[in-house]
Amino acid sequence: MIIDCHIHAGEIGKHYPKWWVEELYRSWGGIPQWDGGRPNMTVGERLVHQMDELGIDMMCIMTSDHRRVYADDKGPFTPNEYLLEVRDTAPERFALTCSVDPPRDPYEAIQEIDKCAKEGFAACKLYPTYDHFDPGDERIFPIYEKLIEHDMLLQIHMGWTPCQNAPMKYQMPYLFDDVALRYPEMRTVISHMGWPNYEECMALIAKWENLHADFAYWAWFGPEYVFKILKQFGRLCGYDKLVYGSENSHTAPGIEMMKGMGETARELGVEPIADGDMEKIMWKNAARLWKIDGKLLPGDPDA
Ligand SMILES: [Zn+2]
Repeated sequence: MIIDCHIHAGEIGKHYPKWWVEELYRSWGGIPQWDGGRPNMTVGERLVHQMDELGIDMMCIMTSDHRRVYADDKGPFTPNEYLLEVRDTAPERFALTCSVDPPRDPYEAIQEIDKCAKEGFAACKLYPTYDHFDPGDERIFPIYEKLIEHDMLLQIHMGWTPCQNAPMKYQMPYLFDDVALRYPEMRTVISHMGWPNYEECMALIAKWENLHADFAYWAWFGPEYVFKILKQFGRLCGYDKLVYGSENSHTAPGIEMMKGMGETARELGVEPIADGDMEKIMWKNAARLWKIDGKLLPGDPDA
């Protein structure tokens, strides 16, 4: 069983301007990394095709709203309802993560989260660096309170992005420490483990019980680099807090890297990550955090 918790769903040209994706993925092979080289398929068809090809069982798909930080409101925007359309392609293969841009209209953002909670979205993604806000800004507090009210997971981008209009000062994991102090009960996945500040991020996650990390786009760095950090993470934070996610650009290399982790350990001459812990990383933690229906999961007596 494999669940990929970090996939952006949206069409180029409609939801994501072409120039924006080109800039974002310029280090990673450009547009084909977004549409999988299959521009004629719908997003749902393409993601299902990709899952079947790679042996992925489910994807947690997400939206974003970066309109406000570009001239004439022309930044990327995928409405949350669009994900319902994508999910219809294969309802048992997708879990849904909505998104809001809190400073754009805080009141509307709250209403949107209420609506998404009713429609079965399990999580909400925030993008402090892309949307130019500090996660500790008091304007964001009502969003956190709303997520706690609905017991929705927060997935939050902390760390680097190749996107130029994304200030690095809002990428630092320590910014989330004040948030965790105020809302320790909020279940949270910190995306990209705050790379390159992953040590700071591990310190944060070890400190707060309800913080977790995904390591989306890390397949870029190669198996040896990633393996060493994941081992360090396991020692400090435990593997109940680590969730596999790939990022669209790294969906295929991510799976290849994770399947080769045992071999990487042998080459390095160190203990591999135990099978039980690999299962937690590859699907069990995501299934728990996104509240994925037990009927869809292995080992369920009703399955
Ligand atoms: Zn991402």
